[in-house]
Amino acid sequence: MNPILEDLIILQAQDLELKLLREELAEAPRRVAAAEAAVKKSETALSSAKQSLAKEESLRKGHELDIADRKGKITRLRKQMESAANAAQIAALEHEITFSEQSISQHEDEELASMERTEGFEADLAKATDSLATTTASLAAERVRAADVLAKNTASVEGISLERSTLRKKIGSTDEGEATLSSYDRIAKAKGTAVSEAVDHKCSACQMMIRPQRWNDLAERSPNSEFANTIFSCETCGRMLFHDPRRDAPVRWTPGERLTSATR
Ligand SMILES: [Zn+2]
Repeated sequence: MNPILEDLIILQAQDLELKLLREELAEAPRRVAAAEAAVKKSETALSSAKQSLAKEESLRKGHELDIADRKGKITRLRKQMESAANAAQIAALEHEITFSEQSISQHEDEELASMERTEGFEADLAKATDSLATTTASLAAERVRAADVLAKNTASVEGISLERSTLRKKIGSTDEGEATLSSYDRIAKAKGTAVSEAVDHKCSACQMMIRPQRWNDLAERSPNSEFANTIFSCETCGRMLFHDPRRDAPVRWTPGERLTSATR
């Protein structure tokens, strides 16, 4: 294989790895922020359920006081009836007693309705308490993870960037290397990747078939053939093609794995 192409395969693995590491670095604080928002939401739900419960309780206390008040009044009215002078007075007192009894019954109905609402708010409270515990735990985990990603990825980015700039200097040290590197940069900028593995008669990046003659030139060339050093391009996507004879089935491109196998 053309030694420049071999270096470009490693360069691409480094570029993809750097991209992945930087994406994770950018993603980590976003995940922490999302976890924080989830905790806030649980806290709000919890505080709202507590407020509603307190409100219902004070509402019921009010009804209880009114009921006690009315009961006291009825006792007084009944006492007054014992010493009532005439039928008109008795009728007036009876009317007042009936009115108070109706009022007590209304307050009791209200109390019952409040008890029912309280059951709902208690369920909300339990749910919000659970949710707060869960979201608080995930926030703690996200913070640990973010710190871990920051430390690990920053170190990796630093290390790979250093290797990368050394490799680019090496590739660019010849005229041919410099020209190929600038093609690499141009294609990579436009398409994300510039080098593609030819697998099973196809370009693994764009999945288009490679013409049989070209495939033969690429896959079956011997070190002494006229194309031994040629860098072929995919006729569909323009990426530089390479062929790894050790591989005969398509495998997903993972930068870390490729970096390891390419440097082996
Ligand atoms: Zn292609």
